Amino acid sequence: MPAPAIEMSRFLDTLAASSAIGPGREGGLSRLALSKADKEVRDMFAGLVKAQGMSLSIDGVGSMFARREGLRPDLPPVLIGSHLDTQANGGRFDGIIGVLGGLEVVRALDAAGITPLRAIEVVNWTNEEGARFSPPMVASGTFAGTYTTEWTLARRSDDGPTLGEALDSIGYRGNAPVGGRPIDAYFELHIEQGPILDSLGMQVGVVTHGYTSHGFLVSFTGETAHTGPWPMERRKNALVAGARLLVASDDIGWDFAETGGKGTAARLVAWPNKPGILSDWAEVVCDVRHDSPASAAVMAERVRRAIGESAARAGCEAKILDSWTWGGHIFDRGLVDGVRASAVRHGFRHMDIASQAGHDAYFMARVAPTAMIFTPCRGGITHNNRELCLPEDMAPGLDVLLDVVLQRANRPA
Ligand SMILES: [Zn+2]
Repeated sequence: MPAPAIEMSRFLDTLAASSAIGPGREGGLSRLALSKADKEVRDMFAGLVKAQGMSLSIDGVGSMFARREGLRPDLPPVLIGSHLDTQANGGRFDGIIGVLGGLEVVRALDAAGITPLRAIEVVNWTNEEGARFSPPMVASGTFAGTYTTEWTLARRSDDGPTLGEALDSIGYRGNAPVGGRPIDAYFELHIEQGPILDSLGMQVGVVTHGYTSHGFLVSFTGETAHTGPWPMERRKNALVAGARLLVASDDIGWDFAETGGKGTAARLVAWPNKPGILSDWAEVVCDVRHDSPASAAVMAERVRRAIGESAARAGCEAKILDSWTWGGHIFDRGLVDGVRASAVRHGFRHMDIASQAGHDAYFMARVAPTAMIFTPCRGGITHNNRELCLPEDMAPGLDVLLDVVLQRANRPA
């Protein structure tokens, strides 16, 4: 029986098929969650896993689970996954290589005629990016029990429909229960989305933990008035309150930049947002993150203070509509050691690294032993149509993924 092996040409063909769906700016993708393009790539994934003899189930928030049965169907499965949705100006690699990499692992096992003890499931999580429905990683968060299914289905997009309505419109609201079942382990292969591996010439990132991140969705309420005669001291311009909070978030990031902290002014919407009238409503998304949970907590406290100060300076009322936190030392030591050992065995240049972006793995770590593998991406450019991974950037991570999944899937009860 041959040893199972990743076949790069097969993987790259599948990746190329994905790259043709939902084109964005030159070279990139604009495949927002539950859009027509997302339906198309979901249909493609469904067709591929069925052709591979896998069974497909879709849960109540639209996450797709393709299952390859093991010798012991009664044992909890090993889950591999990430997401096929992208940002509005997204790249072709991002989490896509994690889902299609999972499929490639199954294909490699099939080609070698190997059936491990445990089932292997490959998951495509709904709305990882949070680009159409806030917050990000909402489906894995629901699977992990952090959000209820009802709450998640009620998330509303800018363009109108709720997440539940959007699922219905593309036919992807499934009937499998959301979470609540044992998972033996979760592995996620993802591009680094930063410049560290590429700049150091590393082939594999052994992800040890994630930056602690605190995010906020805040609304400001003021009063419309004429931009000319209305006295400054009586103005309640919600747009200004929102802008002040965003600048404060950026400033907080700069204050912690020396130790790697980040503060992000992510989004501001206002109404009416027109010349000639003051806006009476604004909504802001901002976040702060840091490798040290304690520093992240200090940064978050400063954001909370800035929310009140921004509202007061602009004569408005502030309301925190939603806040979220993730990251920290959440990954399973044994699995992380396994990723590193595989990189060593292959002779890949590798390093331990923290994840600075949010990933579905963060929520999965709450319910199952979890690990992540990073591949380098050129220049660290991501969430950008110039995002680029060459085959040689992805191959080592795929080899490691196959190793650790196979090993775990043969773990006895
Ligand atoms: Zn991603």
